[in-house]
Amino acid sequence: LENVRKVYNSGSVKVEALKGVSLGVKNGEFLMIVGPSGSGKSTLLHIMGALDTPTSGRVEIAGKDMTNLSDEELAEIRNKYVGFVFQQYNLIESLTVLENVMFPMTLAGEEDEERAKDLLRKVGLKEEHFDKFPSQLSGGEQQRVAIARALANDPEVILADEPTGQLDTKNSQRIMKLLEKLNDSGHTIVMVTHDLSLVRWADRVILLRDGRIEREMSPEELDAEVLD
Ligand code: ATP
Ligand code: MG
Repeated sequence: LENVRKVYNSGSVKVEALKGVSLGVKNGEFLMIVGPSGSGKSTLLHIMGALDTPTSGRVEIAGKDMTNLSDEELAEIRNKYVGFVFQQYNLIESLTVLENVMFPMTLAGEEDEERAKDLLRKVGLKEEHFDKFPSQLSGGEQQRVAIARALANDPEVILADEPTGQLDTKNSQRIMKLLEKLNDSGHTIVMVTHDLSLVRWADRVILLRDGRIEREMSPEELDAEVLD
């Protein structure tokens, strides 16, 4: 990302969510983005994953310039390179667990039930849940389904927005171990969190404040005092 700005217009109110962010993520890196509520973390992650476009500035994914691409071209890049884990899971309530994981495969024209089951096993979901609906699962289980879905098209990059935000300590640790395993097997990971106890899992931490990168540091350097 190069000098990325994002302005939201809601009615007559303008919110400048990102005020010139430049950031590079290396292949295989585990990057964490921390910062107070409203500092622009989700906005930044959405733009990194081509789920949203910047008001100005440049975004490049896998060496390809995202500026001036059509919606179809953006969707293609997204499906190929990026797996997104949303802040609120975003599972489709009318589809079963298995169908949720198969959904991105269907969009890509590569439906594969066995692979979807393998992914669900990989994230540690018990077989008995595969045919249930999201509302019949606990938060931790739903989050695992969301991660399996993010892996559906075998993306190089996984972007995760507060993947442990609604989980207890035990389930948070499980999700972190899963993300670590994925990182070890070559996936690049960018994760947003407000939980500073989790930054030790990352290679590098970026502190966002009021739409700007305030500091960039190693997990060891991060001092809890820097956050409100
Ligand atoms: P949180 O930790 O609470 O999830 P965040 O750091 O992810 O916060 P963002 O969701 O990126 O913050 O929001 C950044 C700013 O942009 C906030 O002031 C927010 O109100 C505003 N904003 C975000 N999305 C929109 C939108 N769709 N329309 C208008 N304003 C928005
Ligand atoms: Mg957010």
